[in-house]
Amino acid sequence: MIVIIKREATEEKISALAEWLKTQGIKPDISRGKDITIMGLVGDVNGIDTDLLGALDIVESIKRISEPYKAANRKFHPEDTVVTLDNGTKIGGDNFVFMAGPCSVESEEQIIEVASRVKKAGAQLLRGGAFKPRTSPYAFQGMGAEGIRLLMEAKAATGLPVVTELMDIKDIDLFDGVDIIQIGARNMQNFEMLKELGQVKKPILLKRGFSNTIQEWLMSAEYIISGGNRDVILCERGIRTFETATRNTLDITSVPVIHKVSHLPIIVDVSHSTGHADLVESASLASTAAGANGLMIEVHNDPAHAKCDGQQSITPDQFDIISEKVMKVRSAIL
Ligand code: PEP
Ligand code: MN
Repeated sequence: MIVIIKREATEEKISALAEWLKTQGIKPDISRGKDITIMGLVGDVNGIDTDLLGALDIVESIKRISEPYKAANRKFHPEDTVVTLDNGTKIGGDNFVFMAGPCSVESEEQIIEVASRVKKAGAQLLRGGAFKPRTSPYAFQGMGAEGIRLLMEAKAATGLPVVTELMDIKDIDLFDGVDIIQIGARNMQNFEMLKELGQVKKPILLKRGFSNTIQEWLMSAEYIISGGNRDVILCERGIRTFETATRNTLDITSVPVIHKVSHLPIIVDVSHSTGHADLVESASLASTAAGANGLMIEVHNDPAHAKCDGQQSITPDQFDIISEKVMKVRSAIL
């Protein structure tokens, strides 16, 4: 349910209403836009007397939100959510970011070299997996805590904020210096973990599950936001279809759909959605043209010898070219 507040309402009366709602077990979420102030009600609103609420002198009108996701809904929060990192980097709204780096952290030399190269080409964040979700238990599982330590070294050397995947909530203490916690496709519906992430004071990059609808994806975001953490960034990474020419099928239309129905930023992972290095450029340009708030791209200094996902990793030289073309598309659509 959303309550549209009258323009002339005083802050005092708005806060008094918010306090009263809290006593009813509702979490009020106030969104002040240029022309309109909205109070979104999160929680079980069945006990709220809407006639009484509608009769208050500061209330213009009341609307029920029919979609099951409320806090992630654009009706609830008409302005774009912009996530600001500790170093000032902004994600969402009119900002555009590249999150670039290897599939997995493999060595100090590798991560520092890739980080320096992608930074030079304009990347705002370093990606790199320390805990890797692998289909085979015999495949490289990532460097774990040591991988996080190397990411912190690369961050210190380049100043780039870091995004890396959390697979098990028991590892959260290792993520102190991490700037964005990635929740991978396989954990998009790990509801107990999503509940825990609602309590975490760090932005969450929530990847779309490969068999999940946009609505299910937003319901997962809802778990995190309703738990108290509003800094959620969505990441489209392709979905599983009958097509085998690409690793996944990049659902490019999820970008405008998300912008229509939600205020959350959305970035596109052009590496896992295509699975082939030679498709990364077209997917990057198309995702940018579709209005993505950024791109996640796997970049490796030696793709042929990568421990994971070498076939879809581009080189730093290729990243130079692609990032430049992407910025041209950005300026063409602004
Ligand atoms: C990744 O980004 O390293 C990854 C494993 O991606 P996804 O969860 O989208 O498969
Ligand atoms: Mn990968």
